[in-house]
Amino acid sequence: MTTLNHSPHILLIYTGGTIGMIENPITGALENFEFSQFKKYVPELQGFNFDIDALSFDLPIDSSDMEPRYWVKIAHIISDHYQNYDGFVLLHGTDTMAYTASALSFMLQNLGKPVIITGSQLPIGRLRTDGKENLLTSIEIAAATDSRGRPMVPEVCIFFENRLMRGNRTTKINAEGFNAFRSFNLPSLAHAGIHIKYEEHLIRRPEPGAVFKPHFLLDNNVMILTLFPGIRPEVVDACFAVRGLRAVILKTFGSGNAPQKPWFMDKLRALIDRGVIVVNVTQCYKGSVEMHRYGTGLQLLQAGVVNGYDSTMESVLTKLMFLLGHDYPHNEIVRLMNTDIAGEITV
Ligand code: ASP
Repeated sequence: MTTLNHSPHILLIYTGGTIGMIENPITGALENFEFSQFKKYVPELQGFNFDIDALSFDLPIDSSDMEPRYWVKIAHIISDHYQNYDGFVLLHGTDTMAYTASALSFMLQNLGKPVIITGSQLPIGRLRTDGKENLLTSIEIAAATDSRGRPMVPEVCIFFENRLMRGNRTTKINAEGFNAFRSFNLPSLAHAGIHIKYEEHLIRRPEPGAVFKPHFLLDNNVMILTLFPGIRPEVVDACFAVRGLRAVILKTFGSGNAPQKPWFMDKLRALIDRGVIVVNVTQCYKGSVEMHRYGTGLQLLQAGVVNGYDSTMESVLTKLMFLLGHDYPHNEIVRLMNTDIAGEITV
């Protein structure tokens, strides 16, 4: 690892979430602290020889209130400051962090600089906080360069506990432990121990000469239907009847299987005939959809259901919002769903 010939410039962007909170000494309640004062709460930052600037959402949000318009806002912040910083660290609540990471991975095309998203399970103002370590290591990763002086990880990633993961491969799996995120279908891009060990062969880079291109259009006319034994026709009808619906993520069983009941398949075929895109994503965390494997999957393929491969649900949802937002023709959306565009699937 080498260093830049200037001290790295890092932009911290605080959107909200537990990491930016402290305990009110009088009431004991958790409150957002004034983020411009963050250096006071993390004096360890002085130890870096970096220029670190910070900005915050005017009204920090709990990430459960996350909306596509905030992803657009974050993409604007990054693109407006893109030339002036070597890397970006986004502080975000953990609840919807994987959705934000996935959305940004599609919106920030040809990204040539690190965008490292982190948060914490305990507020930064608590003695046992995991926030400081997550923040400090994320900053170090955002500033790291490879042996050729290029940014080490020019990707949208989530760093949590001790793993750096590709953002669009990540899912929140733990509401209690510090190890809150996993990337089940792609190994971590780096591990932080005494040293930060990067798996350089896994890290994506833009094509040489490709110019960074942010995108700001998203369409949320999508829905997720989780299958379960005993699902009733009325439930499926109600879902498929949503006005303006353009895509459905079908959360199937195992390697991408669904009930063989004729009523179910008839409704699905009618939906696809209406031009709605249906994508098959498995309810299993690990592994991939393989619709050829069982008759119960093959019938979906024959009906025109699109393969979601080994996507996380967060990734397939935000990819659909992104592609629909750009109003590509139907066939082009299907083609791009079958194409790895940001490292999100193994085809
Ligand atoms: N509810 C919080 C949020 O996602 C939890 C956290 O910050 O981790 O914003």
